[in-house]
Amino acid sequence: MNRVRCLVLNAALGPLDYKVPEGMDVGPGSVVECPLGPRTVIGIVWEAERLAGTEVPAEKLRPLRGVLPVPPLSAALRRLIEWTADYYVASLASVARMALSSGGALKGPATMTEYRLTGGLPERMTPQREAALGALEGEQATIRELAGIAGVSEGVLRGLVNHGALEPVEVDCDRPYPPARPDFVEIALSAQQREAADIFSNAVRKAEFAPFLLDGVTGSGKTETYFEPVAQALRMGRQVLVLLPEIALTENFLHRFEERFGAPPVLWHSSLKSTERRRAYRAVSEGSAQVVVGARSALFLPFRQLGLIVVDEAHETSFKQEEGVRYNARDVAVMRGHFEQVPVVLASATPALESLQMAESGIYAKIDLPSRYGGAQMPTIEAIDLTEEKPPQGMWLAQRLVDGIEARLERGEQSLLFLNRRGYAPLTLCRNCGFRYQCPNCSAWLVEHRFTNRLACHHCGHEAPAPKSCTECGEPDCLVACGPGVERIADEVAERLPQARVFVATSDTLNSPGRAAEFIAAVEAREVDVIVGTQLVTKGFHFPELTLVGVVDADLGLEGGDLRAGERTYQQVAQVAGRAGRGSKPGEVLLQTRHPDAPVIAALAAGDRDAFYSAETEMRREAGAPPFGRWASIIISSEDDAEAREAANRIGAFRPDVAECMILGPAPAPMALLRGRYRYRFLINARRSVQLQQVIRRWLAAIDHPPGVRVAVDIDPYSFV
Ligand code: ADP
Ligand code: ZN
Repeated sequence: MNRVRCLVLNAALGPLDYKVPEGMDVGPGSVVECPLGPRTVIGIVWEAERLAGTEVPAEKLRPLRGVLPVPPLSAALRRLIEWTADYYVASLASVARMALSSGGALKGPATMTEYRLTGGLPERMTPQREAALGALEGEQATIRELAGIAGVSEGVLRGLVNHGALEPVEVDCDRPYPPARPDFVEIALSAQQREAADIFSNAVRKAEFAPFLLDGVTGSGKTETYFEPVAQALRMGRQVLVLLPEIALTENFLHRFEERFGAPPVLWHSSLKSTERRRAYRAVSEGSAQVVVGARSALFLPFRQLGLIVVDEAHETSFKQEEGVRYNARDVAVMRGHFEQVPVVLASATPALESLQMAESGIYAKIDLPSRYGGAQMPTIEAIDLTEEKPPQGMWLAQRLVDGIEARLERGEQSLLFLNRRGYAPLTLCRNCGFRYQCPNCSAWLVEHRFTNRLACHHCGHEAPAPKSCTECGEPDCLVACGPGVERIADEVAERLPQARVFVATSDTLNSPGRAAEFIAAVEAREVDVIVGTQLVTKGFHFPELTLVGVVDADLGLEGGDLRAGERTYQQVAQVAGRAGRGSKPGEVLLQTRHPDAPVIAALAAGDRDAFYSAETEMRREAGAPPFGRWASIIISSEDDAEAREAANRIGAFRPDVAECMILGPAPAPMALLRGRYRYRFLINARRSVQLQQVIRRWLAAIDHPPGVRVAVDIDPYSFV
């Protein structure tokens, strides 16, 4: 008789065995419907010998209900799911769910009903209907998605359908994408680009695992270079996955891709509409989606025949997922390349120390692009010592920086001021009683936003109008802003250089692809003189007239003092510096600092990357930090402080005693309250030889907790809060 073992997508259950009914055709990877009590859950048929299950006698097995109409998950993807669950101490089900997050691709009809405005008006107008009509201009989506977009209930929209103001449209979910053409335009590569591109293209041709670190200075044309192996994969009929760290960057990328290949790539990210998601998922699984560009979640898509993986800006910390399965997409990408037997290119101007170390030890091949494309020079970098050159009282920019901006204004050039702080001021307090405005859900100060006149928490999204009088002592008009955010810097520029046209570029102002495109167009049309921006503007942009970059507070990144503070500061400043002087005019970078002698700042000002990396390497080696030793953290949280503390103590009581493995904690996490949950933390530091995951899994497996307690394991953590 035919029995199969299934991984069901329910983390609480182990694998389950089922009977295959007569005539049903399933094999490893098939996505199936499994009966579970009175319900039906989705499962994946797995090799029985790879999943320990309970041996249910044959006569007790229940039959599978059906097979879903998608190609089976490949063996390579199944191995990736196993590896990810194992490495990140997550359940197989929670990883498998990421591979099946399909927006309904697994079932349902091939057409869907979407709705759009007809231009007609309902007989009776209500404020909600009016709001919906205003918000839905140009949109077409399902009722549910439109309700989300318009911020009204689905009932309101159904009313509009009945009144003829919204009409249904039948959409073919699986219509094919326009083909990308490998030879749409020929790009003449520079000699150094050509050499690198040929190495990658050859690797694609060989179709075997080969990890590369493409280490190219900002403006060296890394994108043009890796487009060549993309073209090679297309010629072979193979698919390509390009991972980008932020959706905000895709706009610029899509544009360049389309110019090169004559059609846009297929997009994948968490805010796709369900129809787009379904279409992309099916096209990926059938092999007709040629090039997929996506955020980290694209990593688990069921490619039919992958030929190449590219991770652009591979050093970016946003490749690290910080909830659910806490994986690092950069590292999982390399593992996917391994299981799929395809090359992987990690591209960066400021590679992570971990990646450099892999190159050093010969595991990754390092390919360098040491100079900018087209003869553009690297910018000069100078530090401004704020303890010597003090900004005027109540201001944040040293005179030398303001003079620099003014000189650019006179020449019709552009400047960029970088400060990684959204809003007007990071802290607001009452002048009368000293009360500091804090988030009710998090251990964090509320940030004043003057554009919207609100106080906001950047961790949980809590928001309130800025009070007219102190909520604590009642004194009117007594709130003081402490410290600068980008909005405050923009005000200062406007005050000191009234002729300048200033644009604040943050996730608040560039919050949609449309607005990002408008921003790029305005800068290119020279309608902006000074950009004041957060890390959003540190990468991807290419503005030839931008010749001055001012780093408002180069010390900011060093404050938290975690393991990667120095590296992060180096990367961020080097990336933003990389925006200067990308055209024919030379660029200048001014770093405002109170610690000009700090190794990071000194290395940046001296333009001595190697000095920075070797100092950082030594520091990490001595500290037993990655890549020389390993870290992990365990965060225990609950909405009830006592419950969280007890759970942490219970885990602490079972702490294992393992040689060369140091376990610190439990202690309240630095962010002791986050989104309404109280948090306690263990930090674990181990030698590379320790089987860290196994230690943690065994330790935690034996301990039960009340349902309100969450225990999250973070392997190779990036966040230490
Ligand atoms: P990086 O990502 O390495 O910082 P980019 O890929 O953004 O650099 O390239 C910098 C600029 O140089 C871009 O405007 C790009 O279009 C241009 N460029 C790079 N290589 C070439 C080439 N071979 N031919 C034409 N333009 C190029
Ligand atoms: Zn908060």
